Amino acid sequence: MEIKNYHKARSIDEAYQLLSSNPKNSVIGGGAWMKKSSPTIETLIDLKDLKLDQIIETESLIEIGAMVTLHQLETDQSIIKLGDGFVSQSLSEVLGVGFRNIATIGGSIVGRYAFSDIIPTLLTLPVHLVFYPAKEMTLEAFLNAKGKVDDILTHIVIKKIKGQGFFKKVAQSPLEFAILNVAIFKDDQAYKIAIGSRPSGAILAEEAMAYLNKQKVVNDEVVEQTANIVLETIKFGSNRVASEDYRKALAKAYVKRGIKEVTFK
Ligand SMILES: Cc1cc2nc3c(=O)[nH]c(=O)nc-3n(C[C@H](O)[C@H](O)[C@H](O)COP(=O)(O)OP(=O)(O)OC[C@H]3O[C@@H](n4cnc5c(N)ncnc54)[C@H](O)[C@@H]3O)c2cc1C
Repeated sequence: MEIKNYHKARSIDEAYQLLSSNPKNSVIGGGAWMKKSSPTIETLIDLKDLKLDQIIETESLIEIGAMVTLHQLETDQSIIKLGDGFVSQSLSEVLGVGFRNIATIGGSIVGRYAFSDIIPTLLTLPVHLVFYPAKEMTLEAFLNAKGKVDDILTHIVIKKIKGQGFFKKVAQSPLEFAILNVAIFKDDQAYKIAIGSRPSGAILAEEAMAYLNKQKVVNDEVVEQTANIVLETIKFGSNRVASEDYRKALAKAYVKRGIKEVTFK
């Protein structure tokens, strides 16, 4: 990786103007993934002086700056309280604390990493993303959009919601990418189920959620049927760490366990 120039932006507009002036310019979050993936960068634009490293909790929202580190987020009281700590737990599954003090939430979302431990839990919550100069969208819409991100992610906004959460990362060891991720959240209205690292990126299990959310009683039969719908309607695949069949067996077991946990806890 070669970085020709480094520029610490003095305003978000200055950062954006510089980013748009040359396709070889790039914004840096923690730099952990860029180091692995980027070839030559003409000008690296650092956002660290733009006060995007703050978490602001209001009565109804949690507003997270894109430069907040994963460990800062994991240990913030507002995040610990969400879904009985399942978002914090998912953050804590990313390598060690030293690494999580470097990697940012902005870089973790913009990268749309299929192996992400963080995206599945956020997908089960009302989350929207704020980009500069003028774009807001749900996390789900962002994940579905393809192509390079030309704007700057400034904030991730979570609507505060009461409920129970469940998260499971299955990996060969704590330091490896997930073979499969399952995140489930239940508030007093509905369940949301997200499956990640399939090995493609995280998605909501829409058909299974629709079936589960119309049931009057959640019993063993309903839980079994919901898990079956997940397997029938979500695409799983094979790669060098696990086969499609193994991922399906894991998904079935953890969707069932997760629904029971958020329902009866
Ligand atoms: C060895 C290794 C192992 C990992 N293991 C895991 C794991 O097990 N689970 C997991 O979930 N994650 C894992 N990750 C990913 C990690 O959690 C982070 O998601 C990743 O490092 C990106 O965060 P960053 O702050 O370092 O982003 P950077 O590397 O700085 O940036 C990543 C990309 O996002 C762009 N970008 C950054 N911030 C912004 C912004 N505000 N607006 C627009 N674009 C922006 C950059 O230009 C770049 O293209 C791993 C990463 C590494 C290097």
